[in-house]
Amino acid sequence: MTRRYSAFGLFREGLRGHSGWQPAWRSPAPKAAYDAVIVGGGGHGLATAYYLAKNHGMTNVAVIEKGWLGGGNTGRNTTTIRSNYFYPESVALYDFALKLYEGLSRELNYNIMFSQRGVLTVAHSEGEMEMAARLVNAMQINGTDAELLDRAGVLARAPLLNDADEARYPIFGGTFQGRAGVARHDAVAWGYARAADRLGADILQGCEVTGFIVEGGRCVGVETSQGPIRAGSVALAVAGHSSVLAAKAGFDLPIRSYSLQAMVSEPVKPCLDTVVLYQGTGTYLFQSDKGEIVVGGGLDRVPSYAQRGNPPMQQTVISGLLEMFPAFAQLKMMRQWAGIVDVVPDSSPIIGPSPLPGLYLNCGWGTGGFKSIPAGGWLTAHLIATGEHHDISRPFDLDRFSTGRLVDEAAGSGIAH
Ligand SMILES: Cc1cc2nc3c(=O)[nH]c(=O)nc-3n(C[C@H](O)[C@H](O)[C@H](O)COP(=O)(O)OP(=O)(O)OC[C@H]3O[C@@H](n4cnc5c(N)ncnc54)[C@H](O)[C@@H]3O)c2cc1C
Repeated sequence: MTRRYSAFGLFREGLRGHSGWQPAWRSPAPKAAYDAVIVGGGGHGLATAYYLAKNHGMTNVAVIEKGWLGGGNTGRNTTTIRSNYFYPESVALYDFALKLYEGLSRELNYNIMFSQRGVLTVAHSEGEMEMAARLVNAMQINGTDAELLDRAGVLARAPLLNDADEARYPIFGGTFQGRAGVARHDAVAWGYARAADRLGADILQGCEVTGFIVEGGRCVGVETSQGPIRAGSVALAVAGHSSVLAAKAGFDLPIRSYSLQAMVSEPVKPCLDTVVLYQGTGTYLFQSDKGEIVVGGGLDRVPSYAQRGNPPMQQTVISGLLEMFPAFAQLKMMRQWAGIVDVVPDSSPIIGPSPLPGLYLNCGWGTGGFKSIPAGGWLTAHLIATGEHHDISRPFDLDRFSTGRLVDEAAGSGIAH
């Protein structure tokens, strides 16, 4: 049942020192066994627990998180949600997520502040314009919204862009997806956590999975810092730590973990009402509801689990920002941070069974898995509950690395998060 607070309730809590609020989710002690255990309390793990209960009636479920809810990449990303991918398989996946996002605040009764302000990707040459036209055609054929813009169309959407003729990255035109946008990342984690908890899932924070219980060649549970927990099925949704846990389960994944950084400026008056990405530099940005300019760019160059990011990439991102918006040279940057992302050679996720029966995978989202949280959770829940792929997740099975049926979205996800 969803708790609601009336205006009177808010007033009453104010008078009694805010002592009567109920926590948004419980902190239960781990049970000895669950029907399903999901490792990783980021957006994908929490959404999986929610859709297991809602779509499949599986409520004897635990989400196990070594730190705190959303403390991984879900709480560290730049929150861009879009489905401007090239291949039909990718559009099916990311547009499914976008549609679920469109109704998510209502569904979870939790305001995730989804703002469909569009994503503008700028092209800097005739060659890039041809690629942009190809992408727009593909997206329209695959059933999602996309517009091809000329130079004037780009400048109309972002008038502060550098339109100088001598610019290093001149503006030729670009693509625009109007249904794309940004959402509040913490709210997505908290909304799914509260809803999953209400439906019966146990969320176990501060509990690290250290190994797997294997009997008869099948995964039947996990070893944790709070003791062994048995499970009918286990799913991994641990992003940058997927390879670490796969190694403990006895197999390799085609994943490399990198630091991905972002930074945010002081708040300024409204000056940018869309997300903008430069193809040339890989730098992208938007203005938050508070007025801050949120800026991101490419991966650090060397694989690493150091969750801080390196100065050379900060310099690259900032020089890209100034190339795009010279006026922002006066901005003071307030904070910088990083997350550890799980990068796959074809830049598409891995959803499906693992080589260890009873253990399922939700990983490989790399630089772009915030946008897919609702779909990732839905599809992983389907997999756990039925033991079969949903049609949308089938192309993203690990087996594509042996069959060669890759979904190569490097251009779609390498720089445009
Ligand atoms: C700077 C940055 C910018 C980004 N920008 C965007 C963007 O604009 N749009 C977009 O779509 N995506 C973006 N991403 C990518 C996106 O954030 C991730 O793909 C997505 O959040 C992955 O969600 P998740 O639930 O799989 O992983 P996470 O949110 O990382 O959750 C995994 C959880 O697993 C836990 N865990 C790990 N090991 C263990 C263990 N042994 N036991 C228990 N728990 C464990 C971790 O503590 C973590 O909380 C960005 C990422 C970063 C870092």
